[in-house]
Amino acid sequence: MKNILFILFIFLFFSCDKASDDPESISEELTLQEKEDLQFLKEEEKLARDVYLYAFDLYAYKVFENISKSEQMHMNKVTKIMNVYQVEDLSLPERGKFTNAELQKLYDDLTELCDRSLDDALIAGATIEDVDIKDIEDFIQNTDLQDVMNMYLSLSCGSRNHMRTFTKSLTTLGIEYEPQFITEKEYIEIINHSNEKCNF
Ligand code: ZN
Ligand code: ZN
Repeated sequence: MKNILFILFIFLFFSCDKASDDPESISEELTLQEKEDLQFLKEEEKLARDVYLYAFDLYAYKVFENISKSEQMHMNKVTKIMNVYQVEDLSLPERGKFTNAELQKLYDDLTELCDRSLDDALIAGATIEDVDIKDIEDFIQNTDLQDVMNMYLSLSCGSRNHMRTFTKSLTTLGIEYEPQFITEKEYIEIINHSNEKCNF
């Protein structure tokens, strides 16, 4: 009996020791703010995807389909980080449905804008990228974690490319977008810059 207990003790001792060497088990804790930012961002990327799918259904304008695919990849990147830090995913599977009331309202307003015309749907697109870039700038201030930071930088890089695409479409239709969230200076810098590679 004594021997069995001893063996059990040795086994537990080594298995505990092994667990503490496992890099998965020493991932840092997120602050409540970081968790909330990730939960919000996941739904915000879903909002982008769902509005673009809605606009594509209405106008069959290819840009919306292409960018909706990119937003799905953004959602996947947020999910990956949420899984690493075991953050509860509050996003809903249904298209156009959101847990966050602010994002539900934004979705409802933007799809209403899409209903009006293709021009308005493109303005809705530029608005989404505008708010996305601004929000991610704020989220970046709230974290020191490199993997979280890299995901934020990759997503805002993607948003700048999307902003360029929507602006280009609007310009060919003779419409000038007025930034509502980022500064005029930042907006001008973005649209004057060429497309970036964002898959880092
Ligand atoms: Zn995005
Ligand atoms: Zn985007």
